[in-house]
Amino acid sequence: MASKLELVPLNEWGFFHLPPRPCVVAGPCSAESEEQVMQTARGLKEIGINVFRAGIWKPRTHPGCFEGVGARGLDWLERVRSELGMHICTEVANEKHVAECLKHDIDMVWIGARTTANPFLVQEIAEALRGTDIPVLVKNPVNPDLDLWIGALERLNAQGVRKIGVIHRGVSTVNKIKYRNAPQWEMAVELRARYPELPVFADPSHMGGKREYLFELSQRAMDLGLDGLMLESHCDPSCALSDAAQQLTPADLIALLESLTVRDATTEDERFNDNLRQLRAQIDVLDENLIFTLASRMKVSRQIGDLKKANSVAIVQPNRWDEVLERVVVSASSYGLDTDFVKRVFNAIHEASVAEQNK
Ligand code: PEP
Ligand code: MN
Repeated sequence: MASKLELVPLNEWGFFHLPPRPCVVAGPCSAESEEQVMQTARGLKEIGINVFRAGIWKPRTHPGCFEGVGARGLDWLERVRSELGMHICTEVANEKHVAECLKHDIDMVWIGARTTANPFLVQEIAEALRGTDIPVLVKNPVNPDLDLWIGALERLNAQGVRKIGVIHRGVSTVNKIKYRNAPQWEMAVELRARYPELPVFADPSHMGGKREYLFELSQRAMDLGLDGLMLESHCDPSCALSDAAQQLTPADLIALLESLTVRDATTEDERFNDNLRQLRAQIDVLDENLIFTLASRMKVSRQIGDLKKANSVAIVQPNRWDEVLERVVVSASSYGLDTDFVKRVFNAIHEASVAEQNK
C-alpha cells in the first residue's frame, strides 16, 4: 500500500504558478564564474524564467574533472536574487551543503540522482532541513528503483519537509542507448498516480545528454501531464565546464518552450482527450522499450549465429526452441497474458532470428 505524504501544493511554494504548464527551473549545469552566472541569469530573466538553478558542488564520474566552485558560488546566486529578483536553487548532497545553503537563505534545493540512491545521505539532508520551509526537488535514483525514490520522499517528510517535488532525469543503463540516461516515464507516471499532490518535473537535459533530444523529451513530459521542466541553460554552452553538449542558450531555451504543445484539460471533453493523450504517450514509451528489447535480442541472436557458424553447428535446434517457448508461456501466464498470443509473437521473433542467422 502507498505510504502517505503530507504535501504542500506547488502553487503554494511561492514561485510556481499552475496553469499554465510547464513550471520551469533553468540555469547552468554549474556555476563557473560570477560573470557567467550573472550573464546567464540575465538572459533567462529576459525570457521570463524566474527560478534559477546552478550546481556548485558537482558530482563527477571521474576525479580531476571540474567539481564545482563550492560555497563561494552561493554569493553569486544571492546576487542573482537581489539584482534580478529570481528565486535561486542548487544541489545539496550532504548536511554540510545544506548548512551552507541555509546561511545564504537559498530558496530551494534539489537532491541529485546519485544522492537519492544513498539513504544515509538523504537522511542527513532531511535532518539538516528540519524546521526550515525550503522546498526540495528529489531526482530519481540513478537505478530504476521506485521504492528508493519514494523512500527519499518519506525521509524528508518525516523531518517535516512538506514542499517536496520530484524530477525524473532517466536512469543509467548497461546497454548504449541514444539518450544519456534511459527515460523510465512509467516511474514518474506511477508516482503521480500514487501521490496526486506531488509535483512532478522532468529533466530532459540529463536524460537526453544532447541538445538535439531536448525538445522531444520535453514534449513527452508535457504529453504525460507532468508539471514542470528543469533545463540546463548557459550563456555560452560550447565553453561550459560541465555538460556542454546538453545546455541551451536562453534564446534557444525560449524557442524550445514556445514550440511545445501543451494542453490543459478544462472541460469534460478536454479531460477525456487529455487522458487519452497521456495513455497514448505511455503506449509510445512502451513501444520504444519493445523495439529496444527486440533490437538487443537480435544482436545477441546474431552473435549466436556467428558462434554456430564458426563451430559448424546447425542454426535451428528444435529442442532449444521448445524450451524457450515453454519458459515464455509459463512467464506470460504469470502476467495474465494470453498464451496463444505470446506463442505467436515468439514464433515470429524466432523466425526473424533464424532468417538473420542464415544471412
Ligand atoms: C544536475 O542537475 O546538475 C545533476 C548533476 O543532475 P543528476 O543528479 O540528474 O545527474
Ligand atoms: Mn549537468
